[in-house]
Amino acid sequence: MKTYGRSDQGLVRNENQDDFLIRPVESGGYLLAVADGIGGGPAGRRASHLALATIDNAVGTQVRDVSRLASALSLANRTIFEMGQKDPELEGMGTTLTAAVLYPERLLLAHVGDSRAYRIAAERIIRLTMDHSVAGEMERAGTITAQEASEHPKRHVLTRALGPFDKVRVDVADMPWTPEDRLLLCTDGLTSVAPDEEILRTFMHYHGPELIDRLIGAALTGGGPDNVTVVVAEEIAGPGESHGG
Ligand code: MN
Repeated sequence: MKTYGRSDQGLVRNENQDDFLIRPVESGGYLLAVADGIGGGPAGRRASHLALATIDNAVGTQVRDVSRLASALSLANRTIFEMGQKDPELEGMGTTLTAAVLYPERLLLAHVGDSRAYRIAAERIIRLTMDHSVAGEMERAGTITAQEASEHPKRHVLTRALGPFDKVRVDVADMPWTPEDRLLLCTDGLTSVAPDEEILRTFMHYHGPELIDRLIGAALTGGGPDNVTVVVAEEIAGPGESHGG
């Protein structure tokens, strides 16, 4: 399995409050995560960094149970919350966090906020997370469509994040994985600009570092209104190689 990640400040924001983490675990697996900090001044940047550092420490190398990943997110929530309570400058700070432990045959996922995880296989893209935003909750309730959610005025208003409150509900998933499946974790700096179909097209044409560059490029071409972060895990080493099967 190959993993790639990149974060870019974008063209409008004056700092990058996004961050990502990639590190190996046992059995050929990887711990992968993206975080998008929220809060003024130094708060957002501190929150996303602190969340990833906490996850990195709390998740060991043998992660066979998704509850361990969820516990790490809960711990990150409490750590950020307590720091926000102590320092007036950091009060209310928070971050999204979408974290995966990916083994060749299995994906564990834990998620809070409006960053996303996608599975891309063959010619299909499947969203694995639900946005914890006002628009995302309406989409889940069935009151608006995915298209309407993507244009909703409250699409950026988060309903869940790590840090603002002492407790948080973490979404988890545990699913089989195959060598044909490719994983994308990304912040809303990509998805607010590039629709799922464009992300899929990019995956169909590119692999590896060039894929990462093209995804970041899509966000910048779309005006780069936000920090943008992408993490990809895939079996394929480069373009032109067969998927087999
Ligand atoms: Mn963002």
